[in-house]
Amino acid sequence: MANSFIDLKKNIIDTGLCTRCGGCAASCPVDAISFTNIGMVLTGECIGCGNCVTICPGGGVDLSSHEGRLFGSTRKKPLGSPLGIYRKKLDLSAYDIDIFKKGYFGGRVSAILIHALEAGSIDAALLTDWAGPGNLSIGSAGIARTRKEVLGYASSKYLFSPVLSELKDLYKDDSIRKAAIVALPCQVHAFRNMELHPGTVHLTGKIEYVIGLNCGASNLSEENWKRIIEKLTDVEQEDILDLRAWKVSGTRIHFKVTKKDGNVVEKEMSLNRYLAQINKVDVWPRCMMCPDYSNDLSDITFGMPYIRTEKGEGLVDSAIKANALKRSSINRKVAQFIIDLIMPRRKRKRTRKNIARRKKEGRPYPMFR
Ligand SMILES: Cc1cc2nc3c(=O)[nH]c(=O)nc-3n(C[C@H](O)[C@H](O)[C@H](O)COP(=O)(O)OP(=O)(O)OC[C@H]3O[C@@H](n4cnc5c(N)ncnc54)[C@H](O)[C@@H]3O)c2cc1C
Ligand code: SF4
Ligand code: SF4
Ligand code: SF4
Repeated sequence: MANSFIDLKKNIIDTGLCTRCGGCAASCPVDAISFTNIGMVLTGECIGCGNCVTICPGGGVDLSSHEGRLFGSTRKKPLGSPLGIYRKKLDLSAYDIDIFKKGYFGGRVSAILIHALEAGSIDAALLTDWAGPGNLSIGSAGIARTRKEVLGYASSKYLFSPVLSELKDLYKDDSIRKAAIVALPCQVHAFRNMELHPGTVHLTGKIEYVIGLNCGASNLSEENWKRIIEKLTDVEQEDILDLRAWKVSGTRIHFKVTKKDGNVVEKEMSLNRYLAQINKVDVWPRCMMCPDYSNDLSDITFGMPYIRTEKGEGLVDSAIKANALKRSSINRKVAQFIIDLIMPRRKRKRTRKNIARRKKEGRPYPMFR
């Protein structure tokens, strides 16, 4: 069978190229693909329609052609400027102090979503939460419709998220006319592919805003999370049930490990100590070959907000006017400038090195144009 789940499994899933975005599960017309804590598996009968293979971002993405479609222009050379095409950049925070505190980096994402819901620009948002016990490396996706629900999803989870798998429920729900999605670059790549494919375009029609997050690529396998937690907390790997890192404040990270016997170990440590451990284990293979740091195909990217499309700009402007977002009072311009200067280049360099290595070894690698 040409272009079936067998191809997806052989070329993407079994070769470490799956980004666990959930796009294939949403795209399958016969609901044959399920998301589990070991990734995507075939749980029904594949009819060989090819949707999952066509929209999958694991094998790479044609960034230039998507840019031409979305922005009316492309970068001078493929993968040119590492921050992508944008209209404006602004340093913003949530105006509301509760949202600011619940958010990971100023609560801008939650604030703009709440504003869009309250202004009637969207009826819902597709978001990411912790998946709970037994899922150290994969989050869970859901649909938020109220301020309270949006705040329940606030903060970053350094995990893969099957957020696109929710597109099917969104499509079927007649009470939702317009929505936003918050997504990492690889998830946005799959979404943009879905917009172009006749077998999946209907699933994207309600998404009014694609809100992107920067991604510096520190997603890990389940085994590697366990190794790191053991090193940092002395909880032995076989006793670990769940991990939640809930906030980075300044230069410190706080997290909580639940043991299989029900005991909870809470830790706070310097980011340097934490990152030093992360740097000792292998990052997920596909993340080592991912050139997109700044979410180049989104309407708005958060890190430093990069506003890319006209409708993204309209939403940010109306959120500022309504006092949902304000120019940040914290002076983090220098820090963010450094992040945006160093991180994307470092990620590109790592990508080039790892793709070259995979080529040399004759192993599959993603292709970007
Ligand atoms: C894996 C990962 C890597 C990141 N790497 C960088 C980086 O290198 N540099 C940088 O400047 N910023 C990075 N970010 C973005 C940063 O952590 C913040 O999410 C961003 O600045 C928005 O903060 P906020 O306070 O405005 O958002 P909040 O108001 O806290 O809202 C965060 C939103 O993110 C969504 N979300 C959380 N985890 C995920 C996930 N795994 N997949 C999809 N959506 C998710 C939630 O649904 C929530 O709505 C990364 C985020 C993630 C999840
Ligand atoms: S569509 Fe997403 S989840 Fe499915 S195989 Fe490709 S990368 Fe993995
Ligand atoms: S999307 Fe199509 S090719 Fe993929 S598993 Fe479903 S039926 Fe098979
Ligand atoms: S590094 Fe790339 S593939 Fe990995 S989670 Fe981030 S955007 Fe996705």
